[in-house]
Amino acid sequence: MGRLAGKVAVVTGAGSGMGAATVERFCAEGAKVVAVDWSGNEEDVARHCGASCVPMRGDVSQAESVEQMVALAIERFGGLDILYNNAGIQGPIVDTAEYDEDDFDKVIAVNLKGVFLGMKYAIPAMLERGGGSIINTSSMASLVSFPGMSGYCASKGGVSMLTKLTAAEYAARGIRVNAILPGAIDTGMTQSMPKDYIDGAVAATLMGRIGRPDEIASLALFLASDESSFITGTLTPVDGGYTIV
Ligand code: ADP
Repeated sequence: MGRLAGKVAVVTGAGSGMGAATVERFCAEGAKVVAVDWSGNEEDVARHCGASCVPMRGDVSQAESVEQMVALAIERFGGLDILYNNAGIQGPIVDTAEYDEDDFDKVIAVNLKGVFLGMKYAIPAMLERGGGSIINTSSMASLVSFPGMSGYCASKGGVSMLTKLTAAEYAARGIRVNAILPGAIDTGMTQSMPKDYIDGAVAATLMGRIGRPDEIASLALFLASDESSFITGTLTPVDGGYTIV
């Protein structure tokens, strides 16, 4: 029996990086998974997992897409137990006075409003089953500042607080809400950043290396499973020690 046997999950940002690694891990542990991304790459990830995974092309910043992903989990797999709100974008790296207003709105819409919408539409479905587990991708950028990334840092600060307050609201109703705070992880997002920015982040990582997407998936699996049944409202860095000091 897998650690997620009998559970149904929705994973966003499923087309690459941490989301793709988590979809594969969830399926290997017996979950049924709706894999959501706006890129089309979710098709390949789902194909790799076989019948236990269905892909869905959708944009987490749009309420219709988010309602649709919850409806798809119910229609195909009978309900929803786990939501991994993981889709995210980085936005530009430029100081605040030069940061374009539209870029700021876009980053907040995907990274912060997307998490809000995911929880808003998943919670009623989870309450129908007597509870569930929500995992939000925040960032170490909700703990320490990264100059030049005002949209990203503000969005992740919001995700961390939204995680705690939603955990408090639903603690007595069986829904646990936790956030993962990745450090520098080897994904499409970091690969698209200037090399000196990433080199600087790795140099400040006490373990002296970049993290792997499967190291995020390991925590997502634990938080999704009943093994973490008394854990809610936590913000856990997976950052090789970046934020210790
Ligand atoms: P990371 O794993 O570090 O978040 P990636 O860029 O590899 O970095 O993965 C993020 C994923 O989120 C990508 O597959 C991207 O297409 C997806 N994504 C970004 N914005 C949205 C959105 N609005 N709706 C759905 N998926 C999104």
